[in-house]
Amino acid sequence: MYRVEPKELLVSQRLYNDASFRNRLKKVFTGLITEVADSEFNKENAEKVLTEHFGISDVHQIFVPESAAIAAGVTLGFLHRTQKRSLNYIGKISYYRNDRYMVLDQSTRKNLELTSTIFTNQKKGSLLWVLDRTKGTMGKRLIREWLENPLLDLDEIQKRQDGVREIYENPICLEELRTVIGSIHDLERISSRIAYGSGTPRDVIALKNSVQHLPELKEILFKMNSPIFTEMSRHFDDLSDIYHMIDAAIDDEDPPVTLKEGGIVKEGYNADVDEYRKIAAGGKQMILDIEAKEREATGIKNLKVGYNRVFGYYIEVSNSFKDKVPDYYIRKQTLTNGERFFTPELKEYEDKVLGARDALNELEYRIFCTVRDYIANHTARIQLMSSFIAVCDVLMSFAVVAMENQYCCPVIDRSDVLEIKNGRHPMVEKVNSEVFISNDTELNNEDQRIMVITGPNMAGKSTYMRQVALIILMAQIGSFVPAESAHIGLTDRIFTRIGASDDLVGGNSTFMVEMRETANILKRATEKSFIILDEIGRGTSTFDGLSLAWACIEYLSDAPNGPKTLFATHYHELTTLEQEKNNLRNYAIRVDEINGNLVFLRKITPGKADKSYGIQVARLAGMPVSIVNKAKKILRNLEKSKLRMDVKTEEEPETTLFREITPEEEDIITKITQLDLDCLRPLDALRLLEEWQDYLKNE
Ligand code: ATP
Repeated sequence: MYRVEPKELLVSQRLYNDASFRNRLKKVFTGLITEVADSEFNKENAEKVLTEHFGISDVHQIFVPESAAIAAGVTLGFLHRTQKRSLNYIGKISYYRNDRYMVLDQSTRKNLELTSTIFTNQKKGSLLWVLDRTKGTMGKRLIREWLENPLLDLDEIQKRQDGVREIYENPICLEELRTVIGSIHDLERISSRIAYGSGTPRDVIALKNSVQHLPELKEILFKMNSPIFTEMSRHFDDLSDIYHMIDAAIDDEDPPVTLKEGGIVKEGYNADVDEYRKIAAGGKQMILDIEAKEREATGIKNLKVGYNRVFGYYIEVSNSFKDKVPDYYIRKQTLTNGERFFTPELKEYEDKVLGARDALNELEYRIFCTVRDYIANHTARIQLMSSFIAVCDVLMSFAVVAMENQYCCPVIDRSDVLEIKNGRHPMVEKVNSEVFISNDTELNNEDQRIMVITGPNMAGKSTYMRQVALIILMAQIGSFVPAESAHIGLTDRIFTRIGASDDLVGGNSTFMVEMRETANILKRATEKSFIILDEIGRGTSTFDGLSLAWACIEYLSDAPNGPKTLFATHYHELTTLEQEKNNLRNYAIRVDEINGNLVFLRKITPGKADKSYGIQVARLAGMPVSIVNKAKKILRNLEKSKLRMDVKTEEEPETTLFREITPEEEDIITKITQLDLDCLRPLDALRLLEEWQDYLKNE
């Protein structure tokens, strides 16, 4: 629902009347919900509607599975009923298969800022903003579609990649493509409007002006060698019949906005149109002649011959010349300042001129409709060419972005490897004022499947994790990637759990959202998935949060075919897991502290961070000095506080991770620290040890 964003849903009567279903639907869908009779949701109805519409006999061979056929049948049936016009422009219905595309849930789309940024909700700053250098509207729509649907089919990815590489390596061809595509209008929309019967003369001329460039595009494509282009060349259709038809019939000099205005048909195309035009134009001249003649005959100098829609042609005489009006003038209308008349001669011309105009308009309209119908009948051909143009535009856009930003062509295969050398974040590197520091990533399914990333606030943990996710995604839409090199094993899903967000309308608090999303990830991730977990467990109390984070990470590490995971955390305790788990490695993003000031190095290296520097970052963020100082004091006290971590062991799975130290234990600790070991005899030491052990055992 989030991916397609439909405007309207057709729902069977049975479901429509199910209140709980409707309530659930309304939580995720705000458009129109329309009830359709249950009787339409079956195989027989689908067969009937689809056979009639597509003129094919075996519907079920094309529409597999049956539920797809039923959905298509219901939808087409509904359109036929409500649109009440020919729907022959719907030449194809395709079935969206989940297994063709990478699954990206709504929060991942949002977190990765694919088409809009989280904070401003605008395209600027998003991945689309970086990648979209398309020249035409069709390309713009397609690049968005590709971005939202990364592929799982290796051949298809490689086909796109080869196309991008060929343009990337051939700047002349890039320039040629850019010029041609830039001169082509939105053929897809224009042809839909024409097919729908609402196309204007301007649309038809825009279509002609676009189609005119197809032979140039064909020539460019013929020179190219990668399969995606050779396939297009094989099926290329320069639509010359459509071009010639429009060119012959429709006047392209200043085409009218509406059909009523006339002036649509080209001179010389139709003898009757030319004749009517002559009469209509000649008639106007005659009216001027009549005016001159009547002025002369009557001596009325300001006599005017005019026209309006209601009264037609008239002779207007002002009141001051009323007495000079001759007898043969027939009164038509009285005005405050004068009178309007007509004469038999004027009436005769009026009939001729208006008749010619009406006939002209009607004939022009008929001719226009013939052209429009011809185009409408060839919608599928135009749409196919539109899709070629859009694909070329997007591949070209990827090539331009790759060149300008020094991207590399990633190696993609079915391996379990994820190796990125000097990877960068595609958006942050463009908007950042500081130089972007590149970083490597290496994950595999053996000794390094999980990276636990620690580092101070603001160090760049989130940026790093997102950059890895974005590089995978970019690779699977066919784009080059911001790195020196990249080897990416096909990834079936990218999951992200980042930051705090609530869904109050949906009845979920911030922490509830966090846990729901995490649970969803843990349930659905496969060995081919890639996960970013950014600070799991931050929305609850420290110990609850740490325990949850701990358990989640152990779960991921112990799963036999667990997903590749980047796990950023400020719970430094989690880094101890490296010793226990052989597929988990600690990484830290380094900072230097020079004279109490933090210097962010932005480099990720093996190992763990010791501090979070949260208070220093708060100071950088402008937190009042008094609060910063107070926080430092509280921190010092907390660090000395009575907390002790007691790591859970395999043998005691149910014991709690932490508990407070009792006053008695504290007493023993004090005694230990105060012991003068130099003067302590071994026997006394043993005695003390026994005493304390007894005490602790009995506690
Ligand atoms: P926190 O723990 O507070 O969430 P973080 O470690 O996740 O912080 P980020 O939000 O990733 O930090 O990064 C903070 C800022 O640092 C980014 O907005 C970006 O401007 C800058 N930055 C991050 N990584 C790099 C990098 N590799 N090169 C240059 N600048 C970077």
